[in-house]
Amino acid sequence: MTAQFSYPGDREQSSAAQVRALEALLIEKGVITSATVDKVLSYFESEMTPLNGKKIVARAWVDPDFARRLVADTPAAVAELDLPDGMAGAEGEHLAAVRNEPGIHNLVICSLCSCFPWPVLGLPPYWYKNPVFRARAAREPRAVLHELGVPLDPDTEIRVWDSSGHSRWFVIPQRPAGTEGMSEQQLAQLVTTESMIGVALAKSPVGS
Ligand code: FE
Repeated sequence: MTAQFSYPGDREQSSAAQVRALEALLIEKGVITSATVDKVLSYFESEMTPLNGKKIVARAWVDPDFARRLVADTPAAVAELDLPDGMAGAEGEHLAAVRNEPGIHNLVICSLCSCFPWPVLGLPPYWYKNPVFRARAAREPRAVLHELGVPLDPDTEIRVWDSSGHSRWFVIPQRPAGTEGMSEQQLAQLVTTESMIGVALAKSPVGS
């Protein structure tokens, strides 16, 4: 992500210090134990990751009926796939997919804070929470996408979706050209977190 969306250099350290202080206080007061924290962290590091989103998008690319169901009722369609337990929790009940197609590009933000589809993309990247990114993506999405190098025709409609406690949007990017002979597993490797937020397109296959 380019420099205009970066945080001050000590942002991560100061956030980490605040989190450590809060964690220590909650443990001291007996609200949680350190095991609770470790369990939640490992859950998000091993189960709720972008691997889930990659599998969902690859299935949508090879199965148009699934793609339609995915847009119409995202939690129900996600439940059809063999994904980790807990996809329906951790905000999974609020998942909502939108599909890029010729002439339409979707971009997901949270203008208020950092709402994100955890079960399919894991925890949000730092830049997603950046106030400048959130404000500019809402106000001038075409300029932001241009700066990020997303190749869009001038007449492509850009739809910006504002995630919230009620809807956790993610994008089904367009299937890249030249991928006709690829397996679902190979296709999944072309799907990036950025493409499922809408700040990038899916990767092109190597050699095309
Ligand atoms: Fe939010």
